[in-house]
Amino acid sequence: MADRIPYENTLAAYWEQRRRWEGNISVVGRQSQAVVGDLNRLKTFKTGRALLSCVQVCGKEILIDTDSETLSESQYSGEKPVPKLEPKLASTLSCNARVVAWPRKGVDYWSTNADGTAVGSTVAGRSNGRLTEFPGTGKGMRAAVLYAPSRFQNCFILTRVDALFHELVHAYRAARGHITSCRVEGDDYEGVAEGCVAGQIPHFQRTGMGEFYAIVLTNVLRSERGDTRLRGSHASHIVLPEEVADSQAFLANTAQKNALLRFAAEEPLLFRKLAVLKEIPFNPFAALFS
Ligand SMILES: [Zn+2]
Repeated sequence: MADRIPYENTLAAYWEQRRRWEGNISVVGRQSQAVVGDLNRLKTFKTGRALLSCVQVCGKEILIDTDSETLSESQYSGEKPVPKLEPKLASTLSCNARVVAWPRKGVDYWSTNADGTAVGSTVAGRSNGRLTEFPGTGKGMRAAVLYAPSRFQNCFILTRVDALFHELVHAYRAARGHITSCRVEGDDYEGVAEGCVAGQIPHFQRTGMGEFYAIVLTNVLRSERGDTRLRGSHASHIVLPEEVADSQAFLANTAQKNALLRFAAEEPLLFRKLAVLKEIPFNPFAALFS
């Protein structure tokens, strides 16, 4: 019987075909052309340019993989896939995109994930088949964004560009080594959900800190586009109630305000670029110190 090529090698060979877009952002796969179109569209928005310019100088290469969105985490980590998870994965991913670690030669997947994780936090993974908590190193990691534009034809209120932007927020946090681990009950984002705001923020009850940031930033982009419907949860498709879809009302909640202050301290460059966009109707980053 012929030797089977280890899966991680075929994935590495496929990722080697990537094409540079701008700065350290690359794209690979059959839907690359559409993703380049989405990146160019994102660049037409001030909020989009604020994030893209930070991602482009974050010191880590970010790959957008437009084909591999149906693969499970186990396939990236080189572990044996768990067959019973596959049908569920296929359906939940129909309106989803993800960020995964991009392993380096000779460095395993979970060590790479630990580099995206903040010091003092842990990331759950497997070592010799056993579930283990890996301590974050905070070094930052190369991140691959699994984003296939064809999946985003009808995803709640979100557009394709919203979905791409959301994942780039996660990729930036991973590149900066700022992911903090917290499993939020009821949220579907396991393992690398960042921090906990559950129970403190009234309209984001079941949302990890990393998702909270990605959602609030994407809401600023939506507002810049003139859309008044803002996303209000990660775990379910909820529109942010009208009474808090306003920068000052949003900051009137202490937990929400503290979460954004923490963001300003952790991501000062991105925060400064967002804080000057005072003309955007919903922009709590601009309202934070005014
Ligand atoms: Zn997310």
